[in-house]
Amino acid sequence: MSSDRTREVTKRILLVLFALWLLQFAFFPPLASRPAELSYSAFLDALAERRIAEVVITDRVLEGEFVSGEAFTVTLPAETTGLAERLEEAGVEQQYKVARQPWWLALLPTVIWLGAMIGLFAWAQKRQAGAMGLARGAVKPLAPGESTVTFADVAGVDEVKADLEEIVDYLRNPDKYRQIGARIPRGVLLYGPPGTGKTLLARAVAGEAGVPFFALSGSSFVELFVGMGASRVRDLFAQARKNAPCIIFIDEIDAVGRQRGAGPVAGGHDEREQTLNQLLTEMDGFGAYEGVIVLAATNRPDVLDRALLRPGRFDRQIPVGPPDAKGREEILRVHAAGKQLDPSLDLAAIARRTPGFTGADLANLLNEAAILAVRRGRKQITMNEIDEAIDRVVAGGPARKGRMIRPEEKRRIAVHEAGHALVATLTPGADPVQKVTVIPRGRAGGFTLTAPEEDQMLYTRSELEARLKMMLGGLAAEEVLMGERSTGAQDDLKRATQIAREMISRYGMGESVGLMSVPEADWPGVQTVSQESAAAIEREVQSVLDRLYREVRRLIEANRDRLVALVVELSDRETLDGDEVRQILGA
Ligand code: ADP
Ligand code: MG
Ligand code: ZN
Repeated sequence: MSSDRTREVTKRILLVLFALWLLQFAFFPPLASRPAELSYSAFLDALAERRIAEVVITDRVLEGEFVSGEAFTVTLPAETTGLAERLEEAGVEQQYKVARQPWWLALLPTVIWLGAMIGLFAWAQKRQAGAMGLARGAVKPLAPGESTVTFADVAGVDEVKADLEEIVDYLRNPDKYRQIGARIPRGVLLYGPPGTGKTLLARAVAGEAGVPFFALSGSSFVELFVGMGASRVRDLFAQARKNAPCIIFIDEIDAVGRQRGAGPVAGGHDEREQTLNQLLTEMDGFGAYEGVIVLAATNRPDVLDRALLRPGRFDRQIPVGPPDAKGREEILRVHAAGKQLDPSLDLAAIARRTPGFTGADLANLLNEAAILAVRRGRKQITMNEIDEAIDRVVAGGPARKGRMIRPEEKRRIAVHEAGHALVATLTPGADPVQKVTVIPRGRAGGFTLTAPEEDQMLYTRSELEARLKMMLGGLAAEEVLMGERSTGAQDDLKRATQIAREMISRYGMGESVGLMSVPEADWPGVQTVSQESAAAIEREVQSVLDRLYREVRRLIEANRDRLVALVVELSDRETLDGDEVRQILGA
């Protein structure tokens, strides 16, 4: 039973029990369908009129019968002086009984009901704890060797694997690191879009590290009954310390690690914040050499509480992005193992046709194709099934649809990025290209990374202009090769405008505005710039950008063939490093 189901069932059972408990009063009311209740004075009157035949007195309750044969009861007041004499005088037969029910007996049904409910509550809680692999009190680790996943099962994320291998190595030979005084990160955060293999990587770490592995999901902390999350965190870390060296893995940590005092859930906050605070405390609490490494994964690094990312906590953050064409081919190879493929099937070709697919998409793709092959009575998967499976995976959901890049769009992105790379390479003073890619990252279709060879503190005017030209290169390349501009340059223009504005308003690099530093914004008490100056700055920003853009266009038109060559390579290989770019451009 999943924990969700357990909760649902428990809730229903509790409701039914509660309803029954209420019903018992309706069906067995203490006094209903019993003899009529008489007031004491009415009873005394009846007694005086000699209408009473007999009475039985139990404690404060008097049950009696009229001479007519009708039964009645009376609740006796505390003070009934002379009652016995009066009864005798009236010739009423009287009996005295000890209370049939001691007070605790009267309470017994309620006690039993309450006990049942509490028992059920405890059972459900245990059940739920069991469902997530946490028996009450003791968090059970995966023993070394229990996870059969290894790094060989994860493909296309070589850089991430290298980072994690280092951590595995540390856990295996801590002395080697200790002797040299190396500090290994305490917390490692894997982040990236869903389906890129973060959970799989963690399981591979468990399979490779040869140390106990405590795995749980962030949501299991917060879905627990109130007050349990924080103590669970405490338990977990206490257990981990006892089992060191070991690894704690918190999957989907955003469920517990969301920014404090934010988020849509009302009321549920305190609980989550307590849990998060406990987690922060625990992570601070262990020393560098304690041998406990906390691994976490999230699709939403943006919502994480900043405190989680501070040094000493998750200070190593590793991006896990969607794979490039080569990576996709490797992933396909991993998942093709054990499947019957037609020998003519070309995995590299499939990889080229699936830009934007994640590892999960590719695994899904091969599985769909295998199912189709069975349905068609084939012994092997052919390109036919692959084709259809690609369509199915692409249509698999609205999110997926958006991620599959249209071919003409992919070409435009390649042109745009090639433009940046070409301008950066051919403009003296620009930072050299480190990497250019057409694989989407967040909102950006692709990106070109440039970085100076050494740290730089000061920039000359020509260096800033070279940087601006590089930023305008994408737009210019689109215009030259595709005939018109697109919205893809929005971010470039924003950043370029900002730099140009700073050149003119802060660094005195403008012509009409001159040597004047313009106050940032309207800080209280700071005289903002006059309207005329603002307009002058605006005009000058405009003219600087226009002039540089014309130069960039001329550069691109003069090197059109080189640009086309770069676009072709980039479309094919999706990611190029700086040396490859320079080689293709012959620079
Ligand atoms: P995430 O945790 O990043 O959302 P998962 O690790 O749950 O993604 O991936 C789901 C499945 O997709 C994996 O079990 C595996 O079958 C497949 N997969 C994802 N990434 C890879 C990869 N890099 N190499 C091989 N298989 C992958
Ligand atoms: Mg996951
Ligand atoms: Zn751009």
